[in-house]
Amino acid sequence: MSVSVIFAAAAAGVGALVYYKSAFPPSGKPIFSSFGLRSLKVHSTESISPNTKKLRFELPEGNLPSGLSLSASVLTFSFPGGGWKPCLRPYTPTNDLDEKGFLELMVKHYPGGKQSTHIHSLKPGDKLTFLPIPAFKWTPNKHAHLTMIAGGAGVTPMYQLARGILKNPDDQTRISLVWGVNTDADIFLKDQFAALEKQYPGRFKATYVVATPDAKSPYQKGFVTKQVLEKLGLTAAQNKGTKVLVCGPPPMEKALKGTKAAPGILGEVGYTAADIHTY
Ligand SMILES: Cc1cc2nc3c(=O)[nH]c(=O)nc-3n(C[C@H](O)[C@H](O)[C@H](O)COP(=O)(O)OP(=O)(O)OC[C@H]3O[C@@H](n4cnc5c(N)ncnc54)[C@H](O)[C@@H]3O)c2cc1C
Repeated sequence: MSVSVIFAAAAAGVGALVYYKSAFPPSGKPIFSSFGLRSLKVHSTESISPNTKKLRFELPEGNLPSGLSLSASVLTFSFPGGGWKPCLRPYTPTNDLDEKGFLELMVKHYPGGKQSTHIHSLKPGDKLTFLPIPAFKWTPNKHAHLTMIAGGAGVTPMYQLARGILKNPDDQTRISLVWGVNTDADIFLKDQFAALEKQYPGRFKATYVVATPDAKSPYQKGFVTKQVLEKLGLTAAQNKGTKVLVCGPPPMEKALKGTKAAPGILGEVGYTAADIHTY
């Protein structure tokens, strides 16, 4: 089921349930081990780039992890302006799924954006309501190689999945990440990806493509184009058995996937619709 279908289903009539259900979390089990709305308290917030905040939420039982599975996301709820109509948006936790006591999100602020503005206004002690949702089902070793193409904050599902794959000794999938950002300062997971490259040589490689780089930027300038993928050896012919994961702003996803009338960049480098998953 796609995120958008889950998203639409959850939106229907959910408002009144939010506070009722979230008042009764299960006890003795990870909070997201069963389906249902849960309300968590903000523990801390930190700016990690000019427009992105890291928020740590307290789980009710400090000795248990969240219970989310690899590649799961959480749908967040708010009621902008105190109205009755809920605003629902998915986010992908960025801490280790087995970390006890906390759930962590990295949220980029879009000026005028309903949910990102609300989440950026949260302070320690405030609460946010969540619903766990599957985003993409991962089966170890199903694909020899994953090409992850992310735009901006669309990197979070890739970060979570890459770590889950790499730390599983039974999963030998190779991963190439191409992350398109606006400026050098937007590469807020650079240290974490450098650590993965060092720890898993030959298994993980990150490449950054910067639309408006600094004068001395070491990164490729521009957008994720056909030429960029060819230069990185990420065409279908160069990497047999590749699954391509895409998560980014709508114009980027459209350019990569194309339309019924015209193939996108991924079609031009040999991928079929079945090879591609969009979050
Ligand atoms: C599976 C999944 C996981 C996600 N995980 C994260 C995450 O971990 N962190 C995170 O910050 N975001 C994540 N997102 C994006 C997030 O769900 C929201 O779309 C985003 O925060 C904007 O919501 P908003 O209500 O603030 O903006 P809206 O009120 O929906 O939109 C306001 C304006 O912001 C712009 N805008 C909206 N969304 C985007 C976008 N994605 N890219 C560029 N411009 C946009 C548009 O110009 C729009 O007109 C994820 C999305 C998906 C599908």
